[in-house]
Amino acid sequence: MNDTVRIQDDLYEYVNGDWLKTAVIPDDKPMTGGFNTLDEEVEKTMMADFKALAENQKTTDIPEMAYAISLYKKVLDKERRNKEGIEPVLPLLNKIKALETVEDLNNVATEFLLKDLELPIAMATDVDMADTTRYCFIALGPSIILPDTPYYADDNESGKQLLKVYADMAAKALKFTPLSEEEQKLFLEDTLAYDALIAKKVKSELEWSEYYKNNNPMDLEEVAKFVAPFDIKRVLKDLYGEKIPSTVIVYDPKAIKEMSGYFSEENFKLYTHWLYVKTLMKAAPRLSLEIKAIGTGYRRALMGIAADPVLEKEAYLLASEMYKEPVGVYYGRTYFGEEAKKDIADIAQKIIDTYKLRMQRNTFLAETTKVEAIRKLSTIVVKMGYPDTIRELWTKLKFDENDSLFEAVSKIAEIRQKDQFDKLYKEVDRSEWVMPGHMVNACYNPNVNDITFPAAILQKPFYSLSQSVSENLGGIGAVIGHEISHAFDTNGAKFDEKGNLKDWWCEEDFKAFKELTKSMTEQFDKIPFHGGEVSGELTVSENIADNGGVGVTLEIMHTLDKPDFRAYFMNWARIWCMKAKEEMIQLLLARDVHSPAPIRANIPPRNFDEWYEAFNVTDQDQMYIAPDKRISIW
Ligand SMILES: [Zn+2]
Repeated sequence: MNDTVRIQDDLYEYVNGDWLKTAVIPDDKPMTGGFNTLDEEVEKTMMADFKALAENQKTTDIPEMAYAISLYKKVLDKERRNKEGIEPVLPLLNKIKALETVEDLNNVATEFLLKDLELPIAMATDVDMADTTRYCFIALGPSIILPDTPYYADDNESGKQLLKVYADMAAKALKFTPLSEEEQKLFLEDTLAYDALIAKKVKSELEWSEYYKNNNPMDLEEVAKFVAPFDIKRVLKDLYGEKIPSTVIVYDPKAIKEMSGYFSEENFKLYTHWLYVKTLMKAAPRLSLEIKAIGTGYRRALMGIAADPVLEKEAYLLASEMYKEPVGVYYGRTYFGEEAKKDIADIAQKIIDTYKLRMQRNTFLAETTKVEAIRKLSTIVVKMGYPDTIRELWTKLKFDENDSLFEAVSKIAEIRQKDQFDKLYKEVDRSEWVMPGHMVNACYNPNVNDITFPAAILQKPFYSLSQSVSENLGGIGAVIGHEISHAFDTNGAKFDEKGNLKDWWCEEDFKAFKELTKSMTEQFDKIPFHGGEVSGELTVSENIADNGGVGVTLEIMHTLDKPDFRAYFMNWARIWCMKAKEEMIQLLLARDVHSPAPIRANIPPRNFDEWYEAFNVTDQDQMYIAPDKRISIW
C-alpha cells in the first residue's frame, strides 16, 4: 500500500502504489500485476510439468497431451531447426510466387484457405446470430499489419514508426528466401502498398466493438459479384459439393462491397507479394532460431517487450495454444480442487439470484421486458474450472513424428480449419468451452448465453478459500457479476436467452436504457490517461459490465453477517493492479474495449453509496461524485 496517497483520493494508487513502485516487468512481457502475475505463475508451474513430462519423469492419463509434448520437443530441437533454416516454408512460398493470374489463385484458393493462408477475403464459419442452433458461413475483409485502421492516418506517428519496424523485419527475413535483391525490395514495397489499400476498407476496432452489427446476411450470388474476379462460389463448391449455402453472413460489408478497392486483375501482383511476405512472417517463429528472432521484432516493438521468452517458454506457449483444451483439462485436473469449484459455483448462483431480484426492482423496464430479462438470467449456463471431457477435434490433431516444427504446426492448423468448415451443417455444440482451464481470464458468450471461468483465474487475489467472503466478492464476485452484465450491455441487450439476435425490449424501455448507456459513455469519455484519453464509446460495454458487477456484489455484501466493505473495495482495486510498458499502455488505450486498469479500479466504486460510507468520502475528496451524477444501470 501507498500511504502517501489517501484512499479517498485514489483507491487504485493507495492499494497498489507501493507494489507499482518496485514491481519489475519481466523482459519477455509487456506488463505485470493482477491477471498477468497469475499468468506468470501458471506458466512457471506448467513449464515445470511440461519439462517433466517430456523427460518421462511424470506421466498423465490424458492421451492428447502426448502430442502437445511432442510439439514442445520440436520447438526445443534447435539443431534441426537451425539446420533446416527457411526450407520448411519454401514449397509454400514458391507456390505463392508461381501465381500469375487470378485464375491460378482460384485454382488453389480452397487449398490455401484450408492451410490458413490469407485470401483476398477472409472466410470462416460461426454460430448464426439469427438462429444459434446452427452455423453460418461468414465473409470479411483481410487482416491489416497495424493494430487498427486509425494508425494509418497521415498524422499518426506511431503508425508510421510501426510500419517501419515491420518493413525492417520483413526485409531481414526476405534475405533468407531465394528471391533476388530486386525482388525482395519489390515484394516488400507491394506488401505495404496492398496493406494500405486494405486499411481504407476494413472495419476499425471501434466498429468491431459493436458486434451485433456483424449480422449482415447477403445472397451468395450478390457476394460473388462483389468479390469477383475472386471465385468464392468455387471455394464453397470445393468445401460443400452440392450443398452450397445460398446465404453468406458478411461481417464487414464495406470490405466485401468495395473489394475492388484493394483486389483486382490489375493489382494481382500486389496481392501475391503481400501474401508471400505475410506467409513468411507468419512462418518465421517456426523456422530457425535466427529467423524466429527476426520475426518477433514487430510484436516486441508494438508492446514494448524487451526480449523473446526463453525457448522452453516458447515451447510451452506454442504447445499449450495448439492443444489448449487438453492442456486446460490437464491444468484443471492437476491444480483445481473440487471444494473450490463448489464454493465458486455457489457464489455464481447467488449472484445470478441477486441479479434477478434487482431486475424485479428495476424502475425503467416494463413488466414484460423484466420477464424476458429474468428468463435470460435463469438460463445462463455457468462453466467453472475446466470441461469434463475433451472434444473429438483435439484427438484428431495429429502430425508425423519426423515432421519439422513448421510442418507439424501447419498440419494442426489444417485439421482445425477443416473441422471449422465441416461444422457448417452440424448442430451447434453449446457445451463447448471458449476458454481453456489454464487461461487467466473470464468471458460471457452472447451466442450461448453462458459464462466461463477457467480454473487459472480462480486463485488469489480473485478468489481463495483463505480470503474473506468480502474479499472474494470484491474479486471473483465482481468479475462474475461483470460477465453476467454482458448479457445486458450495449451488445448483449440485442440477444435473447438462447443467444439469438432478437429484440425483446419495449420501445420505451430501450430508449431509457440508451439514455443510461449514454451517461455511462460520458462518465468515461475523455478521461486523460498517459498523454491520451479514454474513448467512452469504445469502452462502454465493458464499463456497463463493471458497473453491474460492482452493483450486484455490493448488494450481496449487505446480506453477510459481518460485511467488510473496506476489504471489498480494496480487493476490487487489487485485481486491476497492472504495470505495463508505455508502448503497451498506448496500444491498449487505442484499441482495447476495456478502460485502463487504474480507471477500471477507481471509477465504478464512486457510483455507489457503500463507497462513500466505507471510507467517509466527501465532496472534498478526489473520488467523489455528486449523487445526481452517480449511475447504476443494472
Ligand atoms: Zn468484459
